[in-house]
Amino acid sequence: MARILAVANQKGGVGKTTTSVNLAAGLAKAGKRVLLVDLDPQANATMGSGVDKRKLARTVYHVLLGLGEVTSIRVTAAAAGYDLVPANRELAGAEVELVDLPNREGRLRAALATVERDYDYILIDCPPSLSLLTVNALVAAEEVLIPMQCEYYALEGLSDLVGTIKRVRGNLNPRLEIAGLLRTMFDPRNTLAHQVSQQLEQHFGDKVYRTLVPRNVRLAEAPSYGAPAVTWDQASKGAQAYLALAEEVLRRAG
Ligand code: ATP
Ligand code: MG
Repeated sequence: MARILAVANQKGGVGKTTTSVNLAAGLAKAGKRVLLVDLDPQANATMGSGVDKRKLARTVYHVLLGLGEVTSIRVTAAAAGYDLVPANRELAGAEVELVDLPNREGRLRAALATVERDYDYILIDCPPSLSLLTVNALVAAEEVLIPMQCEYYALEGLSDLVGTIKRVRGNLNPRLEIAGLLRTMFDPRNTLAHQVSQQLEQHFGDKVYRTLVPRNVRLAEAPSYGAPAVTWDQASKGAQAYLALAEEVLRRAG
């Protein structure tokens, strides 16, 4: 059975998608069978996996609305080494259309149950909001991986996310836990980054991943080559950090 991880933070641009595609590729490199679900209408995880969002007839939108099976909609992201349930702009409409459907928060969970046996890991790249899409991811997942930048307002935003996780745990998914907090785009020369990083460790202890992802331009360039940095430039500092994260995730799974 797959271990299902939602990569979530309602704050935009903190590294959710970069983490999703590179962790997926890192786990695949370690020999794991991985499915990545793109749950963001921006479809950055789709493009970053080397799949052209403009050429897709069916996507995660159809999965959520019950218009197609995961087994017929998933594609192989060959360059990246994992399977992908892709997204495109159409997903933006799902938010509204889901509201009147039965089991609106549990639709992704039900859909993923049909393929759980095919994978060791299923990662879900969430949009930058605490919307019904993100709630679907939190209901489907056992654990949440929270990427964050060590900035002044980072901790404040975290309390909203932790509140949402608690509510989902209370109402919809009692097994949900925080897998870990990942410090992204870390700049060791920045004093504030160190302070926020220390505060994080004080508040969350072992829940903070040891792995620090540095700011590294190769991670930002990789999407334009249609592959995660982990496969496209494995020697880069950014890729090495995500390979270390994959190891840490595997180690923590015990
Ligand atoms: P959104 O909330 O819009 O979905 P996100 O949280 O998924 O954003 P990313 O898209 O992963 O964040 O990253 C935001 C930008 O920062 C992207 O341009 C990405 O290439 C770049 N980026 C992410 N991580 C790093 C890093 N460690 N070093 C340098 N650039 C990075
Ligand atoms: Mg993103």
